Amino acid sequence: MQVPDIIIAVDGYSSTGKSTLAKLIAKEFGFLYLDSGAMYRGVTLFAQENGLIDKDSVISPKLEKALEGLDLYFGQDGTYIGDRCIEKLIRTMGVSSQVSPISAVPYVRNFVDDRLHDMAKAGRVVMDGRDIGTTVFPNAELKIFMVASDQVRAQRRFDELVAKGENPSFDEVLANLKERDYIDSHREASPLSRAADAYVMDNSDMTIKEELEWVRGVIQGKLGILE
Ligand code: C5P
Repeated sequence: MQVPDIIIAVDGYSSTGKSTLAKLIAKEFGFLYLDSGAMYRGVTLFAQENGLIDKDSVISPKLEKALEGLDLYFGQDGTYIGDRCIEKLIRTMGVSSQVSPISAVPYVRNFVDDRLHDMAKAGRVVMDGRDIGTTVFPNAELKIFMVASDQVRAQRRFDELVAKGENPSFDEVLANLKERDYIDSHREASPLSRAADAYVMDNSDMTIKEELEWVRGVIQGKLGILE
């Protein structure tokens, strides 16, 4: 199927499989995949390593100025700060537990949005996050909003962490998901919400193959493409 040069926004709650689906769409249709959550995770790691957020997630006002010198980007092996690959570090529970307070800060959102717009300039992009279809690319030609049950989501994140050698408790993972959903949906700056023109996918009981079929159907219907 030939898909034109559009922007595809994949938003939704934590651990609904947004990045898995977005990566698959990128591979299937030859799109550039951009992971906006990784940018927020990168800023969080930067704040932690520079003492700009404390253990109670109180954020230093110095973070705003410090961001001017932050060279955060996507490179060959994922996310980088300068020449250091931080891909593994940003996926730990330590970062997950503070990323939502960081991403609620308006100047952090501006910092990330600028980078996302820059990277998407060439078009033909699939981007996943929380506010891509509502704020970052409100004119995206195709918007998908993903949901799944709490248990299914927590199990997915738990399995991911275990596979990476972490040793989390299931309840801790579930609590972190719920907490992030709450903060992400209730913050003032660009909260997580479904764009009115987004297609909702509940993938609690879907295989990845079924998800891709679903996307094909939506693309065909929405863009009037004949196979
Ligand atoms: O997608 P991921 O779970 O890696 O995102 C980590 C966190 O980054 C989210 O819980 C949310 O707080 C924040 N985020 C956001 N807006 C986006 C993407 C992620 O606020 N577009």
